[in-house]
Amino acid sequence: QAKKAGGKGFHFYTKRLNELAHERFTIETDLRRALERGEFVLYYQPKVNIVTGEFSGMEALIRWQHPVRGLVAPESFIGIAEESGLLTPISKWIIDSVCRQLKSWRDQGIQASSAINLSASFFQHADFEATIEKALLQTGIPPESLELELTEATIMSDPQQVLGSMAAMKALGLQLSIDDFGIGYSSLSYLKKLPVDKLKIDQSFIRNIAKDTDNMAVVRAVLNIGRSMQLKVIAEGVENASQLAWLQAEGGEEAQGFYFSRPLPAQGMTALLKRGKRAFAASVSTH
Ligand code: C2E
Ligand code: MG
Ligand code: MG
Ligand code: MG
Repeated sequence: QAKKAGGKGFHFYTKRLNELAHERFTIETDLRRALERGEFVLYYQPKVNIVTGEFSGMEALIRWQHPVRGLVAPESFIGIAEESGLLTPISKWIIDSVCRQLKSWRDQGIQASSAINLSASFFQHADFEATIEKALLQTGIPPESLELELTEATIMSDPQQVLGSMAAMKALGLQLSIDDFGIGYSSLSYLKKLPVDKLKIDQSFIRNIAKDTDNMAVVRAVLNIGRSMQLKVIAEGVENASQLAWLQAEGGEEAQGFYFSRPLPAQGMTALLKRGKRAFAASVSTH
């Protein structure tokens, strides 16, 4: 009986695996053409100073405008792109596009900065540093207007090599931050050695912040690490006024999330930037 059920389960399992393999193959084939066809787009989400309501920066987030599937989220294709070696050309496209967008805003008199998410494979790629330098040179944007977001996993994948690239980026003048901070396992003594400017508290800790005492403790601890190590701290995934009020009460200074704005296409971000520095003054006054 058990064997029979196992057999059925196995049949179901292989069928599902075949479906997945097929889907994966389709995505990979499509991805190869997406760059040539210009199907990738960048959305931008603002970062907000929750003390003053000022715009404090933004994060570029990739999407794939697929001809049939519509707008595809990065989590559905970044992994496959990485495994099939396509993340290198995609990463180069992202870096060039963000720098060109920042230049275009500067040409319109808007001094914007943006963060870019970088995967481990590209951060360790031989072309990485040259790609950044070339994009800065070609667009003439100040290096300080670029921030690179790395996860703890990226850093830990090859600490020596990554540390070297991080130092090179700091020497160029870029800002560095650790993304999804708190869910990895980087040791605090190691953190002290990293040339980073900012910790981005993972959104999973913010989700139930007003009720979950464990999450509260983690967020308080990260805010304290920031204070004692002179690192900026930003909370990701702020979706409502009570999460914001809690962060403000704990002395948090920066946040990002749907409460302020969803990620926007470049045009929408241009409109938001034109509202001026104090664009979020009303959103941050929760009292
Ligand atoms: P991430 O870098 O931690 O980005 C934050 C994600 O949280 C984004 O999802 C953003 O849309 C979402 N988010 C922002 N505010 C809120 C909120 O208030 N509530 C909720 N529920 N979500 C919020 P997205 O754009 O789907 O990106 C997911 C992940 O994919 C990113 O996580 C990043 O790891 C990766 N990714 C995105 N763009 C790129 C890219 O250009 N290059 C690379 N290598 N990875 C990218
Ligand atoms: Mg990020
Ligand atoms: Mg994150
Ligand atoms: Mg993430």
